Amino acid sequence: MLLRHTTGEIKEPTALTINPAKTCQPIGAMYAALGIHGCLPHSHGSQGCCSYHRSALTRHFKEPVMAGTSSFTEGSSVFGGQPNLLQALNNMFTIYNPDIVAVHSTCLSETIGDDIGQIVSKAITEGKVPEGKHVIHASTPSYQGSHVTGYANMLEGIIKGFAAPSVIKRDQLNILAGWVEPSDMREIKDICKTMGVKIVMVPDTSDVLDAPQTGKYEMYPSGGTTIPELISMGQSKLTLGLGSWCTELAAKTLERTCKVGFDIMDLPIGLRATDRFIMALSRYGNAEVPKSITAERGRVIDIITDMQQYLYGKKVALVGDPDQLLPLTEFLVDLEMKPVHIVSGTPGSKFKTKMEKILKDKVPNANIANGPLADMYQLHQWIKNEPVDLLIGNTYGKYIARDEDIPFLRMGFPIYDRVGHNYFPVTGYKGAMRLLEKILGLLLDRQDRDSPEETFELVM
Ligand code: SF4
Repeated sequence: MLLRHTTGEIKEPTALTINPAKTCQPIGAMYAALGIHGCLPHSHGSQGCCSYHRSALTRHFKEPVMAGTSSFTEGSSVFGGQPNLLQALNNMFTIYNPDIVAVHSTCLSETIGDDIGQIVSKAITEGKVPEGKHVIHASTPSYQGSHVTGYANMLEGIIKGFAAPSVIKRDQLNILAGWVEPSDMREIKDICKTMGVKIVMVPDTSDVLDAPQTGKYEMYPSGGTTIPELISMGQSKLTLGLGSWCTELAAKTLERTCKVGFDIMDLPIGLRATDRFIMALSRYGNAEVPKSITAERGRVIDIITDMQQYLYGKKVALVGDPDQLLPLTEFLVDLEMKPVHIVSGTPGSKFKTKMEKILKDKVPNANIANGPLADMYQLHQWIKNEPVDLLIGNTYGKYIARDEDIPFLRMGFPIYDRVGHNYFPVTGYKGAMRLLEKILGLLLDRQDRDSPEETFELVM
């Protein structure tokens, strides 16, 4: 019993997070920056922060994640980190030769009030940023928000740094990808290609954080959105933001600066959210839905029809990020499952309202919480009071799953103890099939394990 101190007696927390359902802002900023080709993220703070951000991403993706740090000492903590950042930019461009450095702040540099924009301007004036190279930046104080907020802030920083207004218009759509795996980013691009819709997607971590083993280390892998693509975003017809928490800020900035309108939709996770994405591509991209995509959808329906008896009425607890949880919950409801406990550490007043709308007919009394006080301790307490048949969440959920003996589906960030998440998508119809296969596998394995010998069936 690893979490033996969790009690069934629920007291609403007022000022304490016990087992957080989130990580820190700069991790999200670093992940978004890695989706730009030739970009080296830089953490403006202490070495310890940067080590944590890098190790979290390295452990999740099982890939080496490079980043610079301003290496704050006691002196910089008191007098400011300007000299450190100036030196760091000079060193990084001289030694590691990135095309872009993406600087994000940390709790410490935000608290002392470093103005990163001003420091970057000074670096450019002093010739520390070579001709043709770029520095972008984002404010990511981790005492607010979560890794999702950091991702959104850096995505806005990327747009501010590159998208240029233009009177020329191209027949292309911008896709602002919410926080998903490299495999999902590849899947979203593949869907657009199959539909015949030209897109610029940012960020794009496919072929960066799932790069093949070639025996040769490449500091800047082949993937990532390129600078010309980023500049061309100001010429696109429209921006599709996939997940409002991650993309709405950047979409609004792009509209304001380049007059490119936007539509924010859910990440295409599950059946209906994928339907909406496909129809939006068809509408805005003026494209027919090809037979291959319709057939893929049909296969999802076929699995649901065949296996619905094993899904019906099963109770599920969920922990994760809002942009993923909303379409995932909708999918579970479509499968006639019952999401009864839902927690996200990421704040945002719309979360509860949107979730209640999805659940109002099928699970009107679900427990839903998000924000700084919504944690996995609370989720565990809810589960003790109303047990579930399945838990879905990141690796930290394994402690609850073990203590309560619940089948556990790893999904979200971070996943430290399994592989596969960055190679197989959960988005699109292919992703829906993978989710179904995983959920059914867990439920049927449990049924096999718990069946007495007289009802242990070969064919289920
Ligand atoms: S001090 Fe702040 S920025 Fe640094 S690792 Fe901790 S939460 Fe993240």
